[in-house]
Parts: sequence; C-alpha cells; structure tokens
Amino acid sequence: MRFLRAAAAAALFAVSAQAQTPPAALAQLGPEGAEIVDAGGTVVLTVPLSQAVPWRVAASDGPPRIIVGFGDLVWSELPGIASQSVAEVQVSKPEAGWSDLSLLLREPLSVASAEMATAEDGTALLEVRMLPTTAEEFRRNAQPSDSKEIFGSREASERRLVVAIDPGHGGIDPGAVAVDLIEADLVLAAARRLKEVLLRTGRFDVVLTREEDAFVSLEARLTTARSAGADVFLSLHADALEDVDGSASGITVYRLPNEAAETADELLATRHAPDDLLKGVDLTGAGDDVALALLHIARRDTSPRSHALQRMLIEAFRSSGLQVNSRPERVGAFSVLKSAEIPSVLIELGFLSSDKDRERLAKAGWQDEAAMAVSEALLRWQDEDRLRAEVIDE
Ligand SMILES: [Zn+2]
Repeated sequence: MRFLRAAAAAALFAVSAQAQTPPAALAQLGPEGAEIVDAGGTVVLTVPLSQAVPWRVAASDGPPRIIVGFGDLVWSELPGIASQSVAEVQVSKPEAGWSDLSLLLREPLSVASAEMATAEDGTALLEVRMLPTTAEEFRRNAQPSDSKEIFGSREASERRLVVAIDPGHGGIDPGAVAVDLIEADLVLAAARRLKEVLLRTGRFDVVLTREEDAFVSLEARLTTARSAGADVFLSLHADALEDVDGSASGITVYRLPNEAAETADELLATRHAPDDLLKGVDLTGAGDDVALALLHIARRDTSPRSHALQRMLIEAFRSSGLQVNSRPERVGAFSVLKSAEIPSVLIELGFLSSDKDRERLAKAGWQDEAAMAVSEALLRWQDEDRLRAEVIDE
C-alpha cells in the first residue's frame, strides 16, 4: 500500500487556525489520525474527532475532487492516503470557521454515504464512503469549481442569526426532579452544549437567558432575548409530564396556539412598558389600540415562522435518529413563547418521568447529537426564512 503526503498540501495547510477562535470551541483530530483507504471497491475516508463538529460533503469539478468541510476543526495532521483513487489531499485555510479537506481524484467517485457518529465519551467519527462513477455522472453532481463558494464565503457574507437559548427553570425553581436528575441543571447543560455547537458553525450569535443556576423571571428571559436582538427563541425543558397512559417519552416541540397569541397581544398592549413591546419599536405615547394593532401585524409574520421552525426541528431530530414523541408537534400557551416578533418554540428534550428518556438525556453524546440537529434545523430554517422574506419583499 502506498502512503502519500502531498507536498502541495503542506503549503495550503494553516497552522494559524488556533488564533482565530477561542480554544474551547475548537475540535481536535483524534490521536489515530484521519485516513483514506480502499476497502473492497469502496474508498473510505475516516476522520476521528475530539468532539462532533458541523460538516458538509460536496463534489467539485476542475480539478475533480470531493470536498469535506469541517466547522472549527484543528488539522494537526493531514489524512494518510492508502487509496488508488485519490492523488492528493489538501486542507484549506479556515474561513468563517470552516476548513475544507479536498480529495483530488485520479478517477471519478461519488459519495455513497457520509455519517458522523458520536461516542458516549463525546468523541466523534466522520465516515465518508465513495464509489467509482462515470465522468459524466460526476460532472452532473459536481458543484461549481470554487469550493469557497460552497463552504466559506457564503457564511462570511451573511448576517449571523441571533439565537436566544432559554434553559427553563433555575435557582429556587428546579423544574421536574426525578431520581438523580434535576430539570434545571439538565437543560442548562444542554443549553451550553447547544451554544457551543451553534457558535462553531460561524453562522450564529448566541445569548443564554440564564448562565447559571439562578431564578430568572419569564419577563426577564424575554427582555434578555429582545435586548440581544434575538431572531429566534428556543426554550429548553425536560418536564415530568405523564400522558394518559403514563408513558410519555421522546422529544416534543411546542409553539404558541393562535388563540393564546391573541390573548397575549391584548395583555402585552395593556400591561407592558411601551418600550419593551416590540424589538426596536418605541411605543411611548401610543395608545393601547395602536400597540395592539402593531402587535397583531408582527404576529401575522411571526406565527407561521415559528410553525416552520417547529416542523424543521422535529424533522431534524427524526433524521438524526433521535427518539421523538409519538405526537411531537404540539401547541402550548407557555408565557415564554409569547413575544410577538421573535419566532419562538419550546423543546421538551424528553420526559424525566420516563426511565428511557432519563438515561438518554444524561449522556453527553446524546446532548451533542440533539444540539447538532437543532443547528441543522436552524440553518435550514434561516435559508428558507430568507427566501420567504425575499418573496414577501417583492
Ligand atoms: Zn420545564
């Protein structure tokens, strides 16, 4: 077997990656190193990682290559090549948190599968399996030749979405308590992991409505989100609700029902400080009726966006193989979902009343997978939301 290290790759290899992002957010290559091998007609790329990171795979023409993009990964060593199909590997300089691993091909390959598995100790392994294909088929699947368009510059030029993560309960309010788990602690840990995963994509700014085990009122949570300019609000819970048959389990996502939104607007218009009603709108001096009308207008836009986010989250949880509830899409009149202008959902990560859920929720690997699914859903939602906004603007 031949084991090549391309000289050209060394020139592209960036050693300054560490200087660009805080060390806590960076993943390292696993000690066994990445490699590309021929395995019975299949070309297999394996990349062991100290923790799960966002990733993407694409084929690109001119020269023909397979590109695997990683969010904030430190490349301490290039992958070893033990495959007849791959001539060279290159790692691009990180851009907007992403670095691209390019496999320059001797013969056209198509990606048959690509999967990142997270182990219980939090380490992860990306495996990409590639099969020989025709040049014509390769060209059909290939992206435009500039890989930066695929991975880097798009993220860099976009305004980052501001995500408010709201870990439920805290302080004197522990939330649900079951056996050895306390909801308030669990959702705070999950919120911190989610924050880290979102920051690593380079596509989000994140604010937490509470950073520690302290009581924070629902009003204060919304004010924190609003003053951070949040574009989206995610409340995390893991309650001990029982279904009629006492077997509720899996992830459930709630949005505010329309009736509750109407009532919320009326209460908001009459009870709130006028400068705290709508992000960026000072309603000082405006009558309750004007405030109410503006809230209704904002809500007409926000409600369908919350609904879309709810559906995409459930889809992402499902496709990540995470256990979702038998009826995962629900409505609930939770006060924390009532802001008129910020699309908001409440995620029940599981039920502390369920033995199976308790076991799952406590695992760091599970929390990472859930965080990655939320990240995927938010990226999709942001893309579709932007398209939707463009259609409305025209
Ligand atoms: Zn709760």
